[in-house]
Amino acid sequence: MSTFNEIRTLIEMSDVIAISGHTSPDGDAIGSCCALAMALKELGKETAVIIDEFPDVFHIIPTGGLLYHSLPEGFAPDLYIALDCGDIERLGKNKELFSQVPNTINIDHHRSNTEFGKLNYVDEDASSTSEIVFKLLYGYAPFNNDIASALYTGIIYDTGGFRHSSTTPATMAIAAELMEYDFNFSDIYNKVFFTRKIGEAKALGLAMERLETCLNGKGVYTYITLEDMKRLGVGSDDLHEITGFIKGIEGCEVSAFVYEKTPDAFKVSMRSDESFDVCKICGAFGGGGHIRAAGCTVEGNPMDIVEKVFKEAEKQL
Ligand code: 5GP
Ligand code: MN
Repeated sequence: MSTFNEIRTLIEMSDVIAISGHTSPDGDAIGSCCALAMALKELGKETAVIIDEFPDVFHIIPTGGLLYHSLPEGFAPDLYIALDCGDIERLGKNKELFSQVPNTINIDHHRSNTEFGKLNYVDEDASSTSEIVFKLLYGYAPFNNDIASALYTGIIYDTGGFRHSSTTPATMAIAAELMEYDFNFSDIYNKVFFTRKIGEAKALGLAMERLETCLNGKGVYTYITLEDMKRLGVGSDDLHEITGFIKGIEGCEVSAFVYEKTPDAFKVSMRSDESFDVCKICGAFGGGGHIRAAGCTVEGNPMDIVEKVFKEAEKQL
């Protein structure tokens, strides 16, 4: 693994820096990318974050005007920094650009990370990529309110509001340091965790109606199809709450929320506690993530997919 100093040296040697996170970006991917881009701009670099469209809620994250959904015209990076991406495929449509840029850095906290960069910094004990970016920037680049707000959003998103076991004293110390800056942390927390559209609430209701258990109650699952989404007027971005909600069912040790991404291809979003390694389960289907939160994409119908996934889970009993 590379050191922060090696990464800083490569940044110093570069002038035009592209930054992106994983496809279907979440709070940590967007927060870490925007914070790093704003900080590197302060260091005199030309930077752009190139990231897919994302859920409205994350528009609370400051971008410094550096966020693009495709490569800005005339922007020719000599360094590409991938954040929060476990493997090169997770870069989605940015994969090609990543392969063409002379220097690349991969900074991440996914246990399944394939070290696909020229320099790689992967800390699977970090709560979030935003936490790692804080450490990279600390004492190296200037912080400001916007950078602090972006990193704080990333950290609270990936820790579930300091709830997940990935939260450490270091995470809290970093959050405390960030709170010294002037941004509305209470508003961010409420928007990220407690604000939902009507359609989102209805999708949650439908998913709960379909809730099933298996493995003697240790397994809990539900699903949503494209047809459901059409009927409720929601997109897959409006389903995130379902994943965490079903893991909260009493007695649940491993959960799977299955939703249709494209006709007959379903995303499986898994959560677990100490008894199951969902990174391993999803790995069996070409996906990955963390021990307690992982995902994969499987073709077929939801019931067959659930059966396959829990067969894999059963091996860990
Ligand atoms: P979620 O269930 O919230 O979509 O994802 C949980 C975790 O697993 C996230 O850290 C996410 O980056 C990772 N993840 C989700 N889907 C995939 C996938 O298809 N492949 C890999 N490698 N990681 C995934
Ligand atoms: Mn993350």
